[in-house]
Amino acid sequence: MLLALRSYQKIQSWHQAESCCSAGPVQNLGTHRPNPNINITLPESGPGFRTYNREENGVDQVGLPETVAFIQRLGAEWEKESEVPFQVGDLSRAGGGPFPPHQGHQNGTEADLRPFRKDGAMLPTNINDASYDRAKTRQWCQLVKQMDPEATILFNDSQLIKEGLTRYYKGHHNHLHLRPSLNSDSLDQGC
Ligand SMILES: [Zn+2]
Repeated sequence: MLLALRSYQKIQSWHQAESCCSAGPVQNLGTHRPNPNINITLPESGPGFRTYNREENGVDQVGLPETVAFIQRLGAEWEKESEVPFQVGDLSRAGGGPFPPHQGHQNGTEADLRPFRKDGAMLPTNINDASYDRAKTRQWCQLVKQMDPEATILFNDSQLIKEGLTRYYKGHHNHLHLRPSLNSDSLDQGC
């Protein structure tokens, strides 16, 4: 009952503004087989990062071990540069597979994040809002690219796109979608 309510709230909050992702590889929704490697839950917080819209026990923040490890490494590096942590939303569900309202987020390889705010608050913002901090968001993207030049970041700030840091994808004005480049056998199982 509680879980159903939380799922409902998540879908509601998605419709209201935040967190939607239609990025990601094409999936065959009908034949999903769980990937047992998608089994590491991102901690609720850690050095350099916090989480938002987290469901109970982080069931919506499960990834491949490499994905979660990358976020944690990124946090440790980010903490050296910034007093304001970055904020992580949905990853995948355990075992992967369909994760409405997302179209992606099925393989344990992707994470949504909030853009930074000038006031440093752990709250949403978007590229058209006065609170949006481009400089800080740019700095974060640069760190990602420094740590993983092949990482993909979807985010619709036209300036950051011009600078080659992010790519346009519909709906990504209020969150960044991060996909580190993973080189792992664990990707091949399931799905
Ligand atoms: Zn996403």
